[in-house]
Amino acid sequence: MAKYTIRFSCGHEEEKQLFGPQKDRERWIAWAEREGVCSACYRAQKPAGVLSVGSNGGAIEFRIRDCFAIKDSLRERGYRWDGSRKIWTKSFGYDAARKAEIREQLLQEIQGLEALGVQDEDHYGDTLRKLIQE
Ligand SMILES: [Zn+2]
Repeated sequence: MAKYTIRFSCGHEEEKQLFGPQKDRERWIAWAEREGVCSACYRAQKPAGVLSVGSNGGAIEFRIRDCFAIKDSLRERGYRWDGSRKIWTKSFGYDAARKAEIREQLLQEIQGLEALGVQDEDHYGDTLRKLIQE
């Protein structure tokens, strides 16, 4: 994990903490400079979906609503439609002994969703921090 100052496509600079392998970070930075926007502009956009994170049994559950336009992409990423709650969900097993690894996995998942235009209600994860208890 490391911090990078990124000039987003909107023209604003912002410091971001990135996760995962170096090549994934570089790919994300290249995307952010080409198409991504800073937090303020991000908040002002109409999202392709809205992500919230919760727990379900012992697992951490990602829940995405208002995302009809990207439903095929979500299915490819392993999300399933929950018709009773009207959300797409994906569960991630949680194991306290592997929390650092799981946290990185989840933050990478959020980065992947953001690339689809999904807004994270927390924008990089206070809920996750609480669930994983750093
Ligand atoms: Zn901006």
